[in-house]
Amino acid sequence: MKLWGEIAVIGDGVENFSVGDRVGVYPIAVCGKCRYCLQGRHNLCEAEFGLGHGIEGGFAEYVRLPREIVDIGGVVKLGDDLSYEDAVMAEPLSCTLAAARTCKLQKGHSVLIIGAGPMGLMHLKTAKYYDCEVMIADLLDERLSLAGKMGADHLINSGQKNLHEEVMRLTDGRGADAVIISLGIPQVIEDNMKLTAKGGVCNIFGGPPPSEIKLDPRWLHYMEITLTGTFASTPEDFRNCLELIRDKSIVVSDLLSHRFTLDNFLDAVEKAKNQEMVRGIVTFD
Ligand SMILES: [Zn+2]
Repeated sequence: MKLWGEIAVIGDGVENFSVGDRVGVYPIAVCGKCRYCLQGRHNLCEAEFGLGHGIEGGFAEYVRLPREIVDIGGVVKLGDDLSYEDAVMAEPLSCTLAAARTCKLQKGHSVLIIGAGPMGLMHLKTAKYYDCEVMIADLLDERLSLAGKMGADHLINSGQKNLHEEVMRLTDGRGADAVIISLGIPQVIEDNMKLTAKGGVCNIFGGPPPSEIKLDPRWLHYMEITLTGTFASTPEDFRNCLELIRDKSIVVSDLLSHRFTLDNFLDAVEKAKNQEMVRGIVTFD
């Protein structure tokens, strides 16, 4: 999706922007009027559409932004001190910020992140921003080693070690205050939600296919577990995220592993599909 660029033309009635302004774009057009938008939960808007879903705007040199995105403050000036390469991480990172809000992350919380793919690494960065102690699990050592470089406190190869035993050992038998399941695999959700500590939050973050999972209602009741999910982010999360990236509270430059142009765009799709890169961007230069 085209999430950043220079303003080339300004539509009628648009104020406070000039041709040539460098901007980042929240990609979802929301109505701003439904009960969810009025509660600030724009990502649950009843009439949303967006770039790449509903309107064109995926990987094009020029994109017409609908007025809804402008009206909700979804077009954010970057100024001169924020590079496009950093700014483009604000959208995915803002989803992890939304998850952190839902998980009520606080200093000293133990957080278990399932999956050390690109989104798992962003959860890691966000949880470290909140001063949490982070355990991250994956099957691939090279991903875990990257997570270690990015500040994870505990790396767990769940193919080689018993994840349940490891998490209980690292948390004195309590489990994690927040379990963020970054993989949308129903069995992984069912197996790992049980690693949530009493009073903790389990967040289904990766989008799963239609499916059913089993849970014991006593687990929710007696342990006061919050089982929830996070879908996308709000425009406010997006704006907050740009500021965190700008002031380097969250460093994102090490997430960028590959650069593409429109000419070798299909390589980007293949590499993403085969999980051969952390985060790739398509540039238009
Ligand atoms: Zn709405």
